[in-house]
Amino acid sequence: MNGSGVRLVLLGKPGAGKGTQAALLSAHYGVEHLSTGDVFRAAVAQGTPTGLEVQQYLDTGELVPDDIVIRVVDEHFAAGGPLEDGFILDGFPRTLVQAEELEQVLADHPLDVVLNIDVPTETILHRIAGRRVCVNCGASYHLTQRPTINWTCDVCGGEVVQRDDDSPDAIGRRLALYEEQTRPLLDYYGQQGLLLSVDGSAPTDAVFDEIVGLIDRRRGA
Ligand code: ADP
Repeated sequence: MNGSGVRLVLLGKPGAGKGTQAALLSAHYGVEHLSTGDVFRAAVAQGTPTGLEVQQYLDTGELVPDDIVIRVVDEHFAAGGPLEDGFILDGFPRTLVQAEELEQVLADHPLDVVLNIDVPTETILHRIAGRRVCVNCGASYHLTQRPTINWTCDVCGGEVVQRDDDSPDAIGRRLALYEEQTRPLLDYYGQQGLLLSVDGSAPTDAVFDEIVGLIDRRRGA
């Protein structure tokens, strides 16, 4: 079975590798990858009304208010497609209010799995301090794992830069908000029997293999 139609949420601290794994999983299962962080960064880059609304939150590492996030996600799902075809959510939900909203939106298309990518905070700090991302497609690099040509993205040729919210102050704030607002989702999904965890400090390929194994077993492949 190819796992088509998989409906998956990725949870984990900032820098746990959600975006990297979501991109690999999206290609593997042939389902779309929705990163609310990428949607907001694109909106800021394009100067859309939503971009103007959220820029200050992104720059300082604060959470975008739930009503704005929910509006963006609702619009996305309302366009049809992903509910039936499957999706990987990365960076949403991040609060209990968002998780409850997601349940409403999904209605009779429940999640298959919520996957927690677990990484110690020390590892996160090292990763984020050296992280560089493509402004165009969001592909992630590190000072120790650079693109082939200067700081030009290997995937799309975009410029690879440090995110404003990867500054030390913003990282501290994002980690604190994770503990306060997002960690409670582990219990929320644990109680629903949906939560599985992987050790995200292993190399990218090993984490990917473990996740695929867990998803396929869960879906009875
Ligand atoms: P990371 O997981 O590394 O923190 P993301 O790209 O997921 O990065 O998110 C970047 C920023 O976008 C967050 O710090 C926050 O300001 C905003 N954001 C993204 N998703 C959400 C969400 N679901 N709720 C509130 N804010 C969000």
